[in-house]
Amino acid sequence: MTNIQGRNFIGYALSAEGGRQFKAYVPVTDTYLPETFQCATVEEVNKTMQLAEKAFDSYSRVPAYDRADFLIAITEEIMALGDQLLERANQETGLPIARLQGERARTINQLTQFAELLREGSWVEAAIDTAQPERPPVPKPDIRKMLVPIGPVVIFGSSNFPFAYSVAGVDSGPALAAGNPVVVKAHPAHPGVSDLTAQAIVRAAKRTGMPEGTFSMLYDDGFEVGTALVKHPATKAVGFTGSYKGGMALYRLAREREEPIPVYAEMGSVNPIVVLPRYLKNNAEQLGKTLAGSVSLGAGQFCTNPGLVFITKSEGLETFQNSYKSEILNTPAATMLTAGICKNYNKLRAEALEQTNVTALAISDIRPEGENQAEASIALVSGKDFIENPKLHEEVFGPFSLLVVCEDTGELYEAISHLKGQLTATLIAEEAEVAEYPEIVRQLAKISGRFIMNGVPTGVEVCPSIHHGGPFPATADSKFTSVGRHSILRFVRPQSYQNWPDSLLPDELKNGNPLNIFRLVDNVLTKGRI
Ligand code: NAP
Repeated sequence: MTNIQGRNFIGYALSAEGGRQFKAYVPVTDTYLPETFQCATVEEVNKTMQLAEKAFDSYSRVPAYDRADFLIAITEEIMALGDQLLERANQETGLPIARLQGERARTINQLTQFAELLREGSWVEAAIDTAQPERPPVPKPDIRKMLVPIGPVVIFGSSNFPFAYSVAGVDSGPALAAGNPVVVKAHPAHPGVSDLTAQAIVRAAKRTGMPEGTFSMLYDDGFEVGTALVKHPATKAVGFTGSYKGGMALYRLAREREEPIPVYAEMGSVNPIVVLPRYLKNNAEQLGKTLAGSVSLGAGQFCTNPGLVFITKSEGLETFQNSYKSEILNTPAATMLTAGICKNYNKLRAEALEQTNVTALAISDIRPEGENQAEASIALVSGKDFIENPKLHEEVFGPFSLLVVCEDTGELYEAISHLKGQLTATLIAEEAEVAEYPEIVRQLAKISGRFIMNGVPTGVEVCPSIHHGGPFPATADSKFTSVGRHSILRFVRPQSYQNWPDSLLPDELKNGNPLNIFRLVDNVLTKGRI
């Protein structure tokens, strides 16, 4: 059994200092766990960032194979925590053990995929242009380019994924893989889970000989530490998942620095679903069940939760509505992550239901024992009222969805034209009818990072082809994903080397590198020269 330390992890040492204290909240019982967690002081922030800056010099030069061993060691240490980690996460988040087992497996898979990427090597995107000394009118130099790490990365995990988007999650994995030291600001909604995970990372770093300062983690239950970390001159990039308000606050801070830095913020989405008439006619009953399952999954606490469903007044609507309604009525209320998130859900849901001509279609009437429970809820509004009321276009974080019933597909197109950038958009349609609605298809593609057909947006596959990002305000920069191998691109920059002798080049750019032999052969075949 590993003890929870509750102290800031400054490199591989626990800091003896610390400021204000807080405790871990148990949402199901509305109580607190006994351990105290010490918020970092400004001095500790400075010490941590200085250590990370120093570590960058050595960690960025650790060979990729050794960094891969480090990532695998993290997975082993996390797994070695066994049920203790799952049980603590269950206490701190209220999420069921089965869900947490799946999320832990996903986290291990993410880290393993980055270890494989490092061993395979092509992620550095080496580009090699060999010299042509005889080229008229001027000789061409030897130029080689690759991606290199950028420096210390500050990471703000989200409340809703205590493993996969937290201390060893989608930001830490690629940042460490690329060769950057990482400083995590632990999410106060699961400090014990963060503590155990940080201990696992520190053990892995020591085991594999990573320089001290490669990883640190600081606590705070307010904004002071996060603000100081983003403002610190040693910080070179920020990874964030959470609210629009939080993401934009950090984005602005980063822009106002003497040296502005990128903030890769994922800030929420309403993930519109559009149902076309012929599909509705043929699949009304099943569609109601499928959508209800997606809306209520994990108490709706997913960035991919479908908050808006657009449909037309056409055959099958009544059957669909009845099926959707009866599924939601029979969905038990579920505990939310924190008292604040639950309060916010109830407030935003009430505000949505108070809007002109919005009616509640169904509100879950099964209420198990426990605190901070959110009832799955769906509401109804006409296309016209939706178009006229921007309040209805906003996210209600939790198991809530608004069904927008449009007069026809023309009105539906107008309604979706009012939507901002989204992580996902979903088209529910018969294959043969898609061609009849080119504007709707184009509009959904334009606003989304992942365009789904005949599925639900919840459930994000971790694989190279996934894009988990989207046009603003879903993320701060639509060019990047936070899931999958390409998420590493957030934490690197390109660097060219001109006229460097082979012996002095980074290994990735040397002629003898097996990957480069293929490139050189390709040069010979396509350009007739090495
Ligand atoms: P959050 O309130 O945005 O917080 C995320 C992290 O950023 C926390 O560590 C928080 O610190 C920090 N933070 C927030 N605002 C900050 C500021 N102005 N300055 C410095 N640090 C700041 O998100 P959350 O706690 O995960 O959940 C709250 C809301 O976020 C939800 O109701 C939901 O709307 C949204 N959310 C979105 C997603 C998504 O996938 N996009 C996921 C989860 C939640 P403290 O906690 O210490 O304040």
